[in-house]
Amino acid sequence: MPLHKLLNHALNIRALKPVCLTLGIENNCNLNCEFCFVRHRDRNGMSMNLIKATLEQFPTIKSIELGLGEPTLHSHFAEIVNLIHSKGIKLGMGTNGTNLKLFPEDLWRKFSWLSIGITRFIDNRYAETPDFEWLPCRHSFILVLHANTPPTTWQEKLAQFQQVNKEPVLIRLDMNARSGTIGRFKRECPEAVQYRERFVKFNGFCYMGSLKPMIYPDGNVYPCCLGKSGDYYRKYRLGSIFTKFTTTPIQVECDRCSHTLENETIHKFLNDPDPQFM
Ligand code: SF4
Ligand code: SF4
Repeated sequence: MPLHKLLNHALNIRALKPVCLTLGIENNCNLNCEFCFVRHRDRNGMSMNLIKATLEQFPTIKSIELGLGEPTLHSHFAEIVNLIHSKGIKLGMGTNGTNLKLFPEDLWRKFSWLSIGITRFIDNRYAETPDFEWLPCRHSFILVLHANTPPTTWQEKLAQFQQVNKEPVLIRLDMNARSGTIGRFKRECPEAVQYRERFVKFNGFCYMGSLKPMIYPDGNVYPCCLGKSGDYYRKYRLGSIFTKFTTTPIQVECDRCSHTLENETIHKFLNDPDPQFM
C-alpha cells in the first residue's frame, strides 16, 4: 500500500473507523487447490441479514473486497453486488474466474477491480486458454506456484495465457511450501521465493483489524484472513457483528505476516510525536 494512503488510513485508525472491509461471503469453492487456506467449507455462506447488519455497523465504509472461498457461488451474489454498489461503496473481489461468464457484463461494471486466480489454467488442467479480455472492469491475475506445479510446462502455459490476456500476472509461491519446493522455485522463479521470504514473523501491535477488518460468513470479525492453523482464530478473534466487536489494535505474535511493514509504519506514525521515517 502506498505510504500516503497508509498514513491517511492511520488517521482513521486513530479514530477507530475502518475505511475498508473484507467480506468473506462464501466458504465454498468449486475448485480444490492444495494450497487453499479456507476452512469450514461445510458452513453456510454469509446471510443477507448479516451483510446488511455489517453495512449498518460500518456506515462510513468506502470500499469492500469480497473474498474467502469463491464469492460467485453465493446464492445471492448479484443481489449482494447491487446492494453494496447502490451505497456508493467501491467493490473489489478475489475470484478463481470460473463463473464470471455466468453473470451479465453489466454486473462486472460495478466492480473497481478483480483479482483472478489462474493457477488451475497453468496447471494444465484446462485445454483452452481462458480469455478475460471481455471484462469491463480493471483486473489482474495471480498465479500460485506449488509442489505440484508441472515442471517446465508452467512457463509455456503462462506465456500462452499472456498472449491472450494482457493484464499483469503476479506470481506467488505457496506460503506453506516446504524446503524442496522452495529450492525448486529458487531456480525456476526466484522472485516468487523472494516475495515469500518477505512474510516474516511478526510480534507487536496489529492494526489490520482497524484498517481493513475481515468479516467471516458466520459474523466473526478478525484482523486478517488468518490463513493459518493452530489457535489463531480463537486468539485473535475481534468479536462478532451480531454481538460485539472491537477495531482496537491488538498485540499479536504471528508466524508469518504479509502486513508487517504496514503494522510497523502505522505504529511508528501513531506513537512517534516527531516521525523521522517519512
Ligand atoms: S480457488 Fe481459491 S478458494 Fe478455491 S480452492 Fe483454490 S485457493 Fe481455495
Ligand atoms: S497475520 Fe499479520 S495481519 Fe494477521 S493478525 Fe497476524 S499480524 Fe495481524
